Amino acid sequence: MSEALNVEELFGKNVFTLGKMKERLPGTTFREVRKVMEHGGELSRESADVVAKAMKDWAVENGATHYTHWFQPLTGITAEKHDAFVTHPDEEGRTLLEFSGKELIKGESDASSFPSGGLRATFEARGYTVWDITSPAFLKEDATGVILCIPTAFCSYKGEALDKKTPLLRSMEAVSEQALRIVRLFGNTGATKVTASVGPEQEYFLVDRAKYLQREDLIFAGRSLFGAPAPKGQELEDHYYGAIRERIGAYMKDLNVELWKMGVTAKTQHNEVAPAQHELAPIYETANIAVDHNQLVMETMKRVAIQHSLRCLLHEKPYAGVNGSGKHDNWSITTDDGVNLLDPGDTPNKNIQFLLVLSCILKAVDTHAALLRQSAADVGNDQRLGADEAPPAIISVFLGEQLDDVVRQLVETGDALHVKKGGKLKTGVKSLPDFEKDATDRNRTSPFAFTGNKFEFRMVGSADSVASPNTVLNTIVAEAFCEAADKLEKAKDFEIAVHDLIKENFSAHERIIFNGDGYSEEWVKEAERRGLPNIKSTIEAADMLTTKKAIGLFENFGVYTKTELESRKEIIFESYAKTINIEALTMIDMASKQIIPAVMKYAGRLAGDVNAIKAAGVDAAVQTDELKEIQKNLKLMKKALDDLKALEKKASAISDQRELAFFYKDKVRPVMTALREPADALEMLVDKKDWPFPTYADLLFEG
Ligand code: ADP
Ligand code: MG
Repeated sequence: MSEALNVEELFGKNVFTLGKMKERLPGTTFREVRKVMEHGGELSRESADVVAKAMKDWAVENGATHYTHWFQPLTGITAEKHDAFVTHPDEEGRTLLEFSGKELIKGESDASSFPSGGLRATFEARGYTVWDITSPAFLKEDATGVILCIPTAFCSYKGEALDKKTPLLRSMEAVSEQALRIVRLFGNTGATKVTASVGPEQEYFLVDRAKYLQREDLIFAGRSLFGAPAPKGQELEDHYYGAIRERIGAYMKDLNVELWKMGVTAKTQHNEVAPAQHELAPIYETANIAVDHNQLVMETMKRVAIQHSLRCLLHEKPYAGVNGSGKHDNWSITTDDGVNLLDPGDTPNKNIQFLLVLSCILKAVDTHAALLRQSAADVGNDQRLGADEAPPAIISVFLGEQLDDVVRQLVETGDALHVKKGGKLKTGVKSLPDFEKDATDRNRTSPFAFTGNKFEFRMVGSADSVASPNTVLNTIVAEAFCEAADKLEKAKDFEIAVHDLIKENFSAHERIIFNGDGYSEEWVKEAERRGLPNIKSTIEAADMLTTKKAIGLFENFGVYTKTELESRKEIIFESYAKTINIEALTMIDMASKQIIPAVMKYAGRLAGDVNAIKAAGVDAAVQTDELKEIQKNLKLMKKALDDLKALEKKASAISDQRELAFFYKDKVRPVMTALREPADALEMLVDKKDWPFPTYADLLFEG
């Protein structure tokens, strides 16, 4: 039996929660902090000092030696620079531990080594980190000790966002402001804020660390670049929800403990579809906290894996031929008086506020489908989207039978008089109770699905931050709300006007609804007929950031400036080219130094055997055929390897980042495939003992 965990005691142990602040701060300071948290503004200098001292005392009591402004630069991961609390020793050589309000609220760092996409020349290297008071400070325990982490936003000297969090916070304000206008129209005078909530389900792979360390591709690219399929894949569907193996169970247990301590509500854990693939889902939270926590989930997954002699792969497609990993971004918006605007109630056809909100969301998603697609794009995710395992690259909305029927009635007749009910679920077994089933079945292929009282955006990649998808969602919905409110606030007869607007929105944007099989070829054609964008790659999607429509939207709601958008686009091109460059160089390395030499050695031995067999006067046809097959593939490999090297040289002469990215996509990628194919064929021809690194079977089925 493993030792019992006291979760209630563990949970939030390492978080400087409101509760701890209440205990440790004078009443006036605590009230000031709460006010700023809820309604914005700035803490006075005096209060900041008081909060900083209380925070430091708490951190030090819990073993902290350093603090850090924890932020999310455009690399997609988090960044931290640790500063010890120690101060200059006094005359007697003693140090005092100090932490001031100034240090809590603002940090200044040389930011020139973070990607800025031209926003900041190296001579303008100043970057500022600013405390996000709405996300609680926490302690991180790792090999460096205990570090007090202060969640911050990261901006340039001129105030341009250099991170993923600043635009997210701006978008949360935008959607709150516009959603309030909507609820006011329906007579809600009490709500003062509308909060976007997010619950990101995180998929991941685990692999034995010793085997991982034998694979340069896993080390450098986070995914396998060579590898013939194992005899067994996921076809038996025996891994999904399967019993969790001992070693993985021990990992999940420690992962949960680490996350709970930091206040992350790790809730659900299970095996996923592919062998060695798993999922963790937290309980949803306010969007910016959910984004912070998802970063912590990813980081902690990696750290705990090492402690268990495992490695955690967050790449969207670590192995060819089995499912890759994604992140389902569950999103909803709720007023501070507790109304989830996405809750249809029992009679959605009569819930006018819900229908208006739903019609606005459809309008937003249809109008800005390309932007939403872009928000989920990254180089790894290109390997996964549209590959019969993840949603296609086409954005559509799944509403389910019940709402679809309501929308249809509204569009056809202008009124939705009836609503389909779920009815009783009958199992046919007397001892099992019949129960009310949901009015709608699940659809697993849709990229944007309504799931009861939230939307589930399923396109996001597993390694990506969920900041951008939620920034886009908040902003496009804010725009649709704003346009609705502009009309309705002026309406002479509100009831007629709202009725007309709902019908107008649904009729104009009905084309975005699709309840069928998103994996099918027919859908691709049908979507084209409907005029829905099908943007296949990350770099094509990047161009969507700077269309007139996108710039207009983001500037209008103060989420991104044109310059910020341009810089983000530039970074996408840059990092895309860099990523594929690393992959190509890794393949060159593995092919030249490992695969080709191993195959040559084996072929040499086989040739010797052929001669010996022939000398013995026996027919060596089997050996000769085998040898010919090996030579054929070896030749193909050599040719692709030379081509790849030549392309790499060509690439180094291209200076325009967009051109370079497209060069990697259109020219380099196909040659990488041409190099992989014969190598994978060779893996099936060569003695396993001679193969230079662990195979898919080794990586996926044990450890
Ligand atoms: P499934 O895999 O069946 O879709 P999970 O339970 O794995 O569901 O994950 C659902 C996620 O959605 C959880 O993170 C959950 O907290 C989150 N969620 C539930 N309700 C809401 C809501 N109203 N807004 C945002 N997220 C929500
Ligand atoms: Mg799930």
